[in-house]
Amino acid sequence: MIGKSYLRKERSDSMKLSVIVPCYNEGLNINVFYEDMLKNLKENKLSYELIFVNDGSTDDTLEKLKDLSVKDKNVKIINFSRNFGKEAAMQAGLEKSSGSYISIIDADMQQKPSTLISMYNKLIENKYYDVVCAYRESRDDDNKIKAIIAPLFYKLINKVSNVNLVSGASDFRVFKKEVKDAIISLKENNRFLKGIFSWVGFNTIYVPYTPDVRLYGTSKWSLLKLVNYGLNGIISFSSFPLYLIFYIAIFYVLLALLNTIFNFFGYRTMIFLLALILISISIVGLYISKIYNNALKRPNYIIKELIGFNNK
Ligand code: UDP
Ligand code: MG
Repeated sequence: MIGKSYLRKERSDSMKLSVIVPCYNEGLNINVFYEDMLKNLKENKLSYELIFVNDGSTDDTLEKLKDLSVKDKNVKIINFSRNFGKEAAMQAGLEKSSGSYISIIDADMQQKPSTLISMYNKLIENKYYDVVCAYRESRDDDNKIKAIIAPLFYKLINKVSNVNLVSGASDFRVFKKEVKDAIISLKENNRFLKGIFSWVGFNTIYVPYTPDVRLYGTSKWSLLKLVNYGLNGIISFSSFPLYLIFYIAIFYVLLALLNTIFNFFGYRTMIFLLALILISISIVGLYISKIYNNALKRPNYIIKELIGFNNK
């Protein structure tokens, strides 16, 4: 009997699922999310840990999480010292996770816990695959700007970079521990996880999903945040903008040579040239700022407190 229960325990631990949930002002969603997630985990008899990352919330997210951690020893909390962004929250969750399978899901119920479980099952059934990634089949209409910009961004980054991103692919994923180990071994600053997933490789299966509308609260994306996120992705994985500047410069040199003979440069051409120079300087500046940020070696996040990680 003892032997059997030991075996059963070991088997379930070797299948343990870590669920990472970045939370920024999700006070109204936490309990609904937790109940739904727990129901799905229990139905499937999964050994699990729920790692909530409180990303500097200014509402009652932390209190809600602490209440959960008191009643469920599988609830763990990483409490950041301030808002560091979803990328940092996901990184911290990955670094602290201990499951053989890892997953990332939003707290706002746009991504369904039941979908996560079916993604986990898919991964278990298909030994060949290391990552199951959900991609948005149709875009939610609560974020119109994103619906327009995102497809353009995917087209551009796939053209100019050495990573390949599937349009609509999200951070909503389930993957093996080996993939997590590869990801956290990269020590770069200003992370762009979708690109990193593509860069580390592994066999990925893409499954379509339709995001639900956000349960409570609003999306944290503004136009500026979206553009910066896209720019960061391109700068992180491509030198194409620098090459582009170079080719434009060559083109202009040729034009200038012709101009010595035909004299067709007017003040309009000069203004245009000035604008191009400004843009070129800014592009170089973006790369320099990336180098600068990495040179400073500041961590991507600061943890104020860890709760529940010593539970047995
Ligand atoms: N999030 C976070 N830090 C932030 C912004 C968002 O941890 O600075 C979390 C947020 O609480 C949610 C997830 O990341 O669980 C996705 O955020 P959001 O719903 O705003 O993005 P969208 O669904 O619109 O892409
Ligand atoms: Mg959302």
